[in-house]
Amino acid sequence: MVQSYVLGFPRIGPNRELKKATEGYWNGKVSGEQLQQVAKDIKASNWKLQKDAGVDVIASNDFSFYDQVLDLSLLFNVIPQRYSKYELSPLDTYFAMARGLQRKATDSAAAVDVPALEMVKWFDSNYHYVRPTFSNSTEFKLNGQKPVDEFLEAKQLGVETRPVLVGPVSFLHLGKSDKDSADLDPISLLDKILPLYAQILKKLADAGAKSVQFDEPTLVLDLPAEVQAAFNKAYSYLASQEGLPEITLATYFGTVVPNLSALKGLPVAGFHFDFVRNPEQLDDVISILNDKQTLSVGIVDGRNIWKNNFTNSVKFVESAIAKLSSDRVLVSTSSSLLHTPVNLDNETKLNPEIKDWFAFATQKVSEVVNIAKKLSGEDVSAAFEANAKSLNNRATSSITNNAEVKARVASINESMGQRASPFLQRIKEQEQILKLPLFPTTTIGSFPQTKDIRINRNKFTKGTISREQYEQFINEEIERVIRFQEEIDLDVLVHGEPERNDMVQFFGEQLEGYAFTVNGWVQSYGSRYVRPPIIVGDLSRPKAMSVKEVVYAQSITQRPVKGMLTGPVTCLRWSFPRDDVDQKTQAYQLALAIRDEVSDLEAAGIKVIQVDEPAVREGLPLRAGQERTEYYNWSAESFRVATSVVTNKTQIHSHFCYSDLDPNHIKALDADVVSIEFSKKDDPNYILQFANYPNHSGLGLFDIHSPRIPSKEEFIQKMEQFLKYYPAEKFWVNPDCGLKTRGWEETKATLTNMVNAAKHFRQIY
Ligand code: GLN
Ligand code: ZN
Repeated sequence: MVQSYVLGFPRIGPNRELKKATEGYWNGKVSGEQLQQVAKDIKASNWKLQKDAGVDVIASNDFSFYDQVLDLSLLFNVIPQRYSKYELSPLDTYFAMARGLQRKATDSAAAVDVPALEMVKWFDSNYHYVRPTFSNSTEFKLNGQKPVDEFLEAKQLGVETRPVLVGPVSFLHLGKSDKDSADLDPISLLDKILPLYAQILKKLADAGAKSVQFDEPTLVLDLPAEVQAAFNKAYSYLASQEGLPEITLATYFGTVVPNLSALKGLPVAGFHFDFVRNPEQLDDVISILNDKQTLSVGIVDGRNIWKNNFTNSVKFVESAIAKLSSDRVLVSTSSSLLHTPVNLDNETKLNPEIKDWFAFATQKVSEVVNIAKKLSGEDVSAAFEANAKSLNNRATSSITNNAEVKARVASINESMGQRASPFLQRIKEQEQILKLPLFPTTTIGSFPQTKDIRINRNKFTKGTISREQYEQFINEEIERVIRFQEEIDLDVLVHGEPERNDMVQFFGEQLEGYAFTVNGWVQSYGSRYVRPPIIVGDLSRPKAMSVKEVVYAQSITQRPVKGMLTGPVTCLRWSFPRDDVDQKTQAYQLALAIRDEVSDLEAAGIKVIQVDEPAVREGLPLRAGQERTEYYNWSAESFRVATSVVTNKTQIHSHFCYSDLDPNHIKALDADVVSIEFSKKDDPNYILQFANYPNHSGLGLFDIHSPRIPSKEEFIQKMEQFLKYYPAEKFWVNPDCGLKTRGWEETKATLTNMVNAAKHFRQIY
């Protein structure tokens, strides 16, 4: 019999229950017990859903209040002293590490003021994890037993589960050393951390767990020799301990072939690999299995929403069975289903023709089961016939093709991706028009998305207020934001993006070739979820998308207002892309649509246009090589095609966040000014890399994920630190990212301090 296996299920709840509960807890409106109860209900319903669907191997500990990597930091007491010193409850310590905490003193508790830990992209996904932050003073010990608790929770419900943990090598390698321990290489902590893994595994075994899943996705990266060697050491150690559960080592999002020697001979019970991404690795990985190890064949895509091709999947798994026999092969999701929306059945507004092409997490669970059943000789012919029919409908649908768009993409030439003059000429012309002071101040685009904004948007969507009423409301909001920025004396203003639900969805909704869900939420980080639009066909822009609001904003102020667009790569990366057309082609289709928008903004008198590309880095292929070089080229070119339509006088800005960036990649975009998330980067080497960036840039000065308010002195200190390496003439002053998740109060205070710090330096320079 071939078993079915799901590596993890979305934790947000079918109706975003977790978001409401955690945010309520942060606001003091939901108690700790209530929050735990919501979590319990979500877990219970996830397990039940999978059990009822007939999944053989169901994960536990895939739930998290914020992030599964941070869970492990808490479990192993990898808690920097600046958090532990307040003696908060474990849950509050956890949230303080996740998002920072600033709290006034009360009768019973001292004041708290601590920024969040660094948060970075989870491989090439739009999920973010909180980086384990190690110090020489880290005191490794078990702190609670979350994996055991969750295993027991499931067991009580009659569901036998396989607990999932990030494995030791990935946990260390994905972490970093804290400021006080600059020379500490996290991988050197392996000996200290392994006994903790053994302890938690022992507890799991005592609780009745027969097997665990260890996620070691770092195996799809280029790894230094000592990290490669760490695998053997780690898994040999765990194998030498008595009475632990069996370990399945799971990787995903890439090929492991370049690291095959690190995997070979590892004493684990089985492996899981991602064959959606890299089907060609099958023979290589089979060649390293011993004659007992199992192979989990990740064949149902955990990263996209397209229906699986049952016939192809069966054929693929059969080729593995032919070499290994059916009791050593499992059919599984390529990764956790965390990256897919919960349930397609909740989609009431999708065109039924298009809806029939999709599978969300709930549907994917059934796909895994159906494929496994077929391979086990069960009769699932009805499901297979329906699947074949859906696939055929999609392949032959007229929705996917637009000949005009195809022709325009084919006509893109080099000059379309080049500004009229080099930067030094352009900036001169721009300075004559903009007349900005030294250390110009600006923000990244969005201002707080208040409850009022959301209520009005909902009313408009539901039709309870008219378009005129809604636009009136938006204009009032824009005016408020403009007046505020004038009042605190920012130099380059923004309209605040109140009309935008999301930076990709907003544009996607106005493009042809996109489809939208009403409930297709996916966790991006913590309580922040996104609802990625779905690219279903060739993309085009029927009419201007953003001009009206920006022009209104510019009409009520003398200061320059930045037009605000989302770049082609970010639109692509934060959508579910097509799987029938390559990503480069989709990026160029988007680039042409944005190019038309840039051109319209310029024609409407907008002097500064920002085209955000926060996702440009996450699209980088995980390993060095030809694919990565190609990506560098087409991602940069698509940005240039989108922006180079303007004259020298129009200043093009771009913005990047969420990841360590490569200045050379940014340089290839040739934007006049870039703003970069930077507030949590204190590594001088990283700053140094930007010292020679040829155009202007603003290294983000404060963390917008946190409600914390840095003082003017803190800004001055930070700027001083940057000024050691970075020339004043190119120095822009701005936050890390947009302010839409912040409240007004902290936004006002923080931006005021930031502007005053810029003024301080204007007096010195
Ligand atoms: N302009 C967007 C904003 O300010 C940029 C968001 C982002 O980079 N994620 O919200
Ligand atoms: Zn950003």
